Amino acid sequence: SYRKGGYHAVRVGDSFAGGRYIAQRKLGWGEFSTVWLAYDCRSSTYVALKIQKSAPQFAQAALHEIEVLSSVADGDPSNSKYVVRLVDQFKHTGPNGQHLCMVLEFLGDSLLRLIKYNRYKGLDLNKVKKICKCILIGLDYLHRELGIIHTDLKPENILLISTIDPSKDPIKSDLVPILEKPEGNPNGGITINIIEKKLKRRARRAVARISGRQDSIGGVGRSPKVERCLDGIDMRCKVVDFGNACWENKPLAEEIQTRQYRSPEVILRSGYSFSADMWSFACIAIELATGEMMFSPKAGQGYTEDEDHLALMMELLGKMPRKIAIGGASSKDYFDRHGDLKNIRRLKYCSLDRLLVNKYKFSDIDARELAEFLCPLLDFAPEKRPTAQQCLQHPWLNTMDVTQKAVKSEPNLQKVDVGMSKLQIKVGK
Ligand code: ADP
Ligand code: MG
Repeated sequence: SYRKGGYHAVRVGDSFAGGRYIAQRKLGWGEFSTVWLAYDCRSSTYVALKIQKSAPQFAQAALHEIEVLSSVADGDPSNSKYVVRLVDQFKHTGPNGQHLCMVLEFLGDSLLRLIKYNRYKGLDLNKVKKICKCILIGLDYLHRELGIIHTDLKPENILLISTIDPSKDPIKSDLVPILEKPEGNPNGGITINIIEKKLKRRARRAVARISGRQDSIGGVGRSPKVERCLDGIDMRCKVVDFGNACWENKPLAEEIQTRQYRSPEVILRSGYSFSADMWSFACIAIELATGEMMFSPKAGQGYTEDEDHLALMMELLGKMPRKIAIGGASSKDYFDRHGDLKNIRRLKYCSLDRLLVNKYKFSDIDARELAEFLCPLLDFAPEKRPTAQQCLQHPWLNTMDVTQKAVKSEPNLQKVDVGMSKLQIKVGK
């Protein structure tokens, strides 16, 4: 993909926007872009630089994303809605063409990594609640205030942020949680690495040193060392990746959402709205609590991935009402006129709270409460799903889970707190 029309190859120390941003290391990539940690010489902060592929269709997509991100930023001047902030944008010409670049506030690792580094065991329910709250505040803002559907909510597109109140500790409030592999940590816990102010000073010195001699920027932030301990990091996060987001009255595509987080109305082509995001949200919440994806459909002998997906949904949530099953433009591909799946017959029903108890070893009460919160979000009728605003009122989100605490204090149990943490300097490793 690093050819004409494709990605722009970046080397550590490359500068952008007339020397304002200096590339530090790659943070991630997607189908359309690579994302780099960069140092902003003007504001003396770190930023994430999203560099789009250069071909016209990618430039078009980036313009759309910038439009969405701009209205997200305009509607939230205090940056308090748990949605990523666009800081700047510019064009960069390289050997593969002209690339639109978005400058975003720098955030930490994704929930996908959090789940992975917690060894797919599921997080403490109190952490799940905190993360859910952030996502819901973000969604309520997008849906109710802006009329925007995200359309691609998944753990990869939710990034951790610092939890420190800047008025209490302005230095630490700049820290960004970067998770470290659990290897070598016998408890299976997570070390949270932090990028520190100190590093920024070092970066600034390096930037000054290199003007004209760009290669030595590679030295920024070498020598990671343990600084101090910060116990019980609270979990907060922000929603990112607005590449596929759309205004409710202007859908971009018929097929939206990443497979495992896709809602039934999208599979059936019955039309979608904000409630499609609420379905994905519920899938994410369960994944955080159990460590495993709620639905991971696969094609098999005589049935497609879509059919397996619909079957998995019904096994968990009960039979889909006939009217809904046969009501979509694609219904005929999957259902007969009685509303039964054409190619998958025997379904093994198991309700969410039973699944949580039997497979994931939740206590009865934890399972019941979580299922009571999430099942309404997994209603096959999209219009019956609670809104983000309604979810935020739910008692499950607003009560601390004490039974979890008791469970966790027993050493042999599997659930591990991811909050414990050492601080390490990470940039430039
Ligand atoms: P795509 O649309 O190509 O999927 P994303 O916006 O999802 O692009 O970014 C790709 C990856 O880059 C993310 O999964 C994440 O790892 C990283 N990333 C994106 N934005 C940021 C940010 N603001 N701060 C830190 N990392 C980011
Ligand atoms: Mg993405």
